Amino acid sequence: MMNIIVMGKQASGKGTIIEELTRKHNLIHLSTGDLFREEFHKGTKLGIQLQKYMHEGQLVPDDVTIKILNDRISKEKKGTGFLFDGFPRDIEQAKLLDKQIKISKVIYLNIDDKLAIHRITGRRICSNDKCAKTYSINPEGFPKPKKEGICDECGTKLYQRDDDKEEIVKERLNIFKEKTLPVIEHYKKEGLVVEIDATRKPEEIFVDLNNIFTTAS
Ligand code: AMP
Repeated sequence: MMNIIVMGKQASGKGTIIEELTRKHNLIHLSTGDLFREEFHKGTKLGIQLQKYMHEGQLVPDDVTIKILNDRISKEKKGTGFLFDGFPRDIEQAKLLDKQIKISKVIYLNIDDKLAIHRITGRRICSNDKCAKTYSINPEGFPKPKKEGICDECGTKLYQRDDDKEEIVKERLNIFKEKTLPVIEHYKKEGLVVEIDATRKPEEIFVDLNNIFTTAS
C-alpha cells in the first residue's frame, strides 16, 4: 500500500498531477483545503472560522486541521493508499502524520516564486459553483476563455479568487518558505523526497512520475 504526499506552492500544477496519480494508482485523495471549503459550504460556525484563515492566506491552526483530517481518514476504507494534498503544511503536522501512517514517497513540485505569482494572478474561475472551471488570462496560460471574462462551459462570469490576489499570494509564499519547506527537509532526511521541475509540461512530468512509481511499488 502506498501513501503519497504531493507538495508544491500554489500554481505548481499540483491539481493536474494529483488527478493523474489518484486515478492511475487508485489512491484516496485527501485535500485539507477541500475539506475546509466543504465545511464552509455547509455553513457551519467552524466553516466560517476556517474561511477567515483561507481568505487571509493564513494557516488554519494545527489542532483544527488535524481533527478535520482524522475525522475523514476514519471514514475512509481501510487498506487503500492515501494521497495527501496540502497536508502536512508545517513540521508539527508532519510529525503527527508520521505517527499514524507510513509515508512511501513525497513528491515536491518545484517552481520559483516569480512564476508562481505570474500563474496565480492570471487565474480566473467560473463563478457558478457547480461548474467552477479554471482559466488563465496570461498570454501563454491555458485554457483561455473564448470570450473575455465568460466561462466557455456555462456562460457565467469569471472572477478572481481573493486568495489569488498578489498581496495574499506573496503572504502564502512566505508561509510556504517559513513553514512548509522545513517539512520537505524533514522528509529529505528520510530519503523520501522526489523533487520535480514543475515548470515543464504535465506530459513530461507524468513520465518522471511513472518511473518513480515503477521503482517504488
Ligand atoms: P489549498 O486549497 O491547499 O491551497 O488551501 C487553502 C487554504 O486552506 C490555505 O491557504 C490555508 O488557509 C488552509 N489550509 C489548507 N491546508 C492546510 C493545512 N494542512 N494546515 C493549515 N491550513 C491549511
